[in-house]
Amino acid sequence: MSDSENKPSNFIRHIIDGDRRANKNNGQVVTRFPPEPNGYLHIGHAKSICLNFGLAQDYDGVCNLRFDDTNPEKEDVEYVDSIKNDVTWLGFQWQGEPKYASNYFPQLHDYALELIKAGKAYVCSLSPEEAREYRGSLTAPGKDSPYREQSVAENLDLFARMKAGEFDEGAKVLRAKIDMASPNINLRDPILYRIRKVAHHQTGNDWCIYPMYDYTHCISDAIEGITHSLCTLEFEDHRPLYDWVLDQLPELAHPQQIEFARLNLNYTITSKRKLKQLVDEKHVLGWDDPRMPTVSGLRRRGYTPLSIRNFCDRIGVTKVDGVVDMATLEFCIREDLEHRAPRAMCVINPLKVTIDTWDTETIEDLSAPRHPKDESMGRRTLKMTRVIYIDHSDFAEVPPPKYKRLTIGKEVRLRNSYVIKCNEVIKDEQGEIIELRCSHDVDTLGKKPEGRKVKGVIHWVSAEHSVPAQVRLYDRLFSEENPDAAAKDHNNEDSHFLDFLNPDSLTIMDQARVEFSLAETQAGDAFQFEREGYFTADPDSTAEQLVFNRTVSLRDSWAKTARK
Ligand code: ATP
Ligand code: MG
Repeated sequence: MSDSENKPSNFIRHIIDGDRRANKNNGQVVTRFPPEPNGYLHIGHAKSICLNFGLAQDYDGVCNLRFDDTNPEKEDVEYVDSIKNDVTWLGFQWQGEPKYASNYFPQLHDYALELIKAGKAYVCSLSPEEAREYRGSLTAPGKDSPYREQSVAENLDLFARMKAGEFDEGAKVLRAKIDMASPNINLRDPILYRIRKVAHHQTGNDWCIYPMYDYTHCISDAIEGITHSLCTLEFEDHRPLYDWVLDQLPELAHPQQIEFARLNLNYTITSKRKLKQLVDEKHVLGWDDPRMPTVSGLRRRGYTPLSIRNFCDRIGVTKVDGVVDMATLEFCIREDLEHRAPRAMCVINPLKVTIDTWDTETIEDLSAPRHPKDESMGRRTLKMTRVIYIDHSDFAEVPPPKYKRLTIGKEVRLRNSYVIKCNEVIKDEQGEIIELRCSHDVDTLGKKPEGRKVKGVIHWVSAEHSVPAQVRLYDRLFSEENPDAAAKDHNNEDSHFLDFLNPDSLTIMDQARVEFSLAETQAGDAFQFEREGYFTADPDSTAEQLVFNRTVSLRDSWAKTARK
């Protein structure tokens, strides 16, 4: 029955398959992705996006993008725009125009009147402190508000005056009349409307009362004809309220809320509030800082939409909370870039090498494949000259055992070029190595040297015919696997997660050089820099200097590459 046999199944697909067999909702699947526009999307949202849009695709259904915009103080059109952009970038298309819960404010208001008239909602004038006291606790039942038995006429009058702006914020709320003794606190006469005298990014100053999330969400789902309303596990306790509201409004459809486990990734956080704190307090350079687990950060880092979608498929959908290893995400981008990224040479920490056997004038064009396995990517030209750069880490004066790179008196191959031998090391006054003097064997281009084995292969660029680059190397944003749990141990969850920021999460290498063939690189272009990893050009690149982000290091060791 499932239309999605090629996708791994999960409990939500099982539910949908069953619904379709029973012809529930006429077999239709309508889902929605419902972000609150109070921050940029993160990798956890990507999971929800892939799930909601993916199900709609696989079952020939539709998926709405709906902004759950009921908290005007915290929301902004900047976030609305970034969310639309991120969803599109991930490769999904919502049905019709983006929807806004605020589009439904008039209907939500009408339904509130209906609830009041049916004796299911009342205006409560307890102060917030009193209301807290009346609510009870996890172990003690709540008490009925003294305003609970007010007449319908009085409730209608007070609600109209709330709407007209007659009362101060916090002076009155509209509450559902459910059960103050319910073991589920969400059912203890929850607030449906509160007074907020602030402008809204979509509705301006039309309203000074705003509906609460729980009340808004279920009705918005129903209005849109959502069949399966997927949300994360923390909403499980809210489901009885979701169902209660819709049960009171029988003219509305009744979508099924299904909860799944949120994505947690180690060494990072997936809470918009905390990510916003990182941005606001400038612990990172912005929402799209490549260290951030935001969709925009991952994009700038060099993650592709396909790699993120594959990651979401791979981690699956369950009912059990867990923590996914960052290595899984890294695996997915490597898997994609392995095929997609042309190879190139970049010397991150250059050491000057003069080849004394090469004359000053000669520039030799050498040809190398852009990809070892994909000829369709074509070839590139390397400029071989007398002065080149190799990486500092590829030379050791006192080599460790089994050292395969360059050392004094020994030979290595320059990748796609000649075999060279180091004859002399030049140091500055502090004893730092500043240059190597080498010779080359003219008979080794594209063939093995005669009568001897040269094991090491190192990368290089021409000094003159290479492009200056800045390389940004990233490490984990946090030094603790679970910064929130670590902060909890310190009894200060709210800000102490900051104590576990990794001070070495960004290393800037400003003297790097990339091979000449990369001169026309555009932001977003990805390469495998041999031995160093996969890198993606950053929008900060200028005419004078390219900027590259290390997307991910190579899993393959250099030794393996060098043997080819
Ligand atoms: P945050 O706590 O980061 O603010 P949120 O749940 O409040 O997250 P929303 O904008 O309401 O953020 O989320 C939109 C949708 O994405 C919701 O359906 C939510 O359940 C889902 N979502 C949010 N975080 C995750 C996550 N880590 N894993 C899976 N789904 C998530
Ligand atoms: Mg939310």
